[in-house]
Amino acid sequence: MKTVSVLGSTGSIGQSTVDLLRGGDYHVKALTAHRNVGLLAEQAKLLGAEYAVIANEELYGELKAALAGTNVKVEAGAQAVVDAAGLGADWTMAAIVGAAGVSATLAAIRQGKTVALANKESLVCAGDFMMAAVREYGATLLPVDSEHNAVFQVFDPARRGIRRIILTASGGPFLRRTRADLAGITPAEAIRHPTWAMGAKISVDSATMMNKSLEIIEAAYLFDLSSEQIDVLIHPQSTVHSMVEYIDGSVLAQLGAPDMRTPIAHTLAFPDRMKTTGAALDLTKNMNLSFEPIDTNRFIAVNLARAALKSGGGAPTILNAANEVAVAAFLDGKLGFDRIEAIAAETLARLTPPAPAGIDDIFLIDEDARRIASAAVAGV
Ligand code: NDP
Repeated sequence: MKTVSVLGSTGSIGQSTVDLLRGGDYHVKALTAHRNVGLLAEQAKLLGAEYAVIANEELYGELKAALAGTNVKVEAGAQAVVDAAGLGADWTMAAIVGAAGVSATLAAIRQGKTVALANKESLVCAGDFMMAAVREYGATLLPVDSEHNAVFQVFDPARRGIRRIILTASGGPFLRRTRADLAGITPAEAIRHPTWAMGAKISVDSATMMNKSLEIIEAAYLFDLSSEQIDVLIHPQSTVHSMVEYIDGSVLAQLGAPDMRTPIAHTLAFPDRMKTTGAALDLTKNMNLSFEPIDTNRFIAVNLARAALKSGGGAPTILNAANEVAVAAFLDGKLGFDRIEAIAAETLARLTPPAPAGIDDIFLIDEDARRIASAAVAGV
């Protein structure tokens, strides 16, 4: 029986994963969450999990009480989440949001098993070290992000004749707005994505196109490509999830309904396939697929990502950390939507750390970037 763990089980990706696991032939080693005790306990009971782990230590008692009378073992704290990631499950879903997932994702990779990677920020933030760990421990890292999962499905593993990859982007809820129209956008408007239902942070990232920017960096690490080999096209229908162009002119694409259960299921069954319950793509209905270039004067985050990728060293870590601070401030009502990319740009300009020699340096750069970005948010 396949053993599995879900890091971030209460989130949008986590819930879709739990949905795919229920009723299947899996032994669930661990489920983890940050604060959502009620849902975590419910999921742990539903799946008969061995461990339920809550990152917020203060919630230990509450989780323990919620799971009283069951066989589920309860742990709490950030280190307990990392320990849960290191339980050696055959398949681990890394779906914690943000750089908070770095240590747990790395611990899962170090088990040398299969890691389904949704937590793109961990790769953006510490890509060199993550990929080095994948090689050192012989892990299989499978992309969950719909675009990267699509590329993975049509990418020749022997890399024969690949010219470039094309990541598609829905354009988010404000695709047709000018920069001047961006002031005054509320968090509720920003998280209302036209085609995907996702967590708050990635929804805001989609609206600023920082999500696509992080994805350029994610793709560079996952597929070992330069910035020039990664193009982005706006594709508002979110049907073609991404493409690979070969030197003979062939363009291979993966299509599907905008339902994250498809890429999650792909990683869960890989290299086999499993049946999912989501609606199949009906090519006879509403299939006017359109593509357009991205306006990088409007969506400047893409330029920031390309520059960070070129600079290398700690730049992607800084970009990611500053964006996390800015998005949190925006969601908190403390920063205008139109200032999010500016905070990232300012932080990148103000910090030039020496190249990180190991994961501990990454954490230090992340911390510095958060300090500078927070000061920029506060206007100091
Ligand atoms: P959500 O915000 O919905 O969920 C995040 C999960 O991480 C929750 O389980 C949350 O717990 C947990 N978490 C948050 N902070 C911490 C912390 N400090 N320590 C431990 N656990 C924590 O996010 P999504 O599911 O939308 O996204 C998860 C990841 O997947 C992101 O990296 C995102 O970019 C990526 N992704 C998401 C897609 C989507 O469709 N949602 C698509 C492609 C990629 P709690 O609920 O208790 O707060």
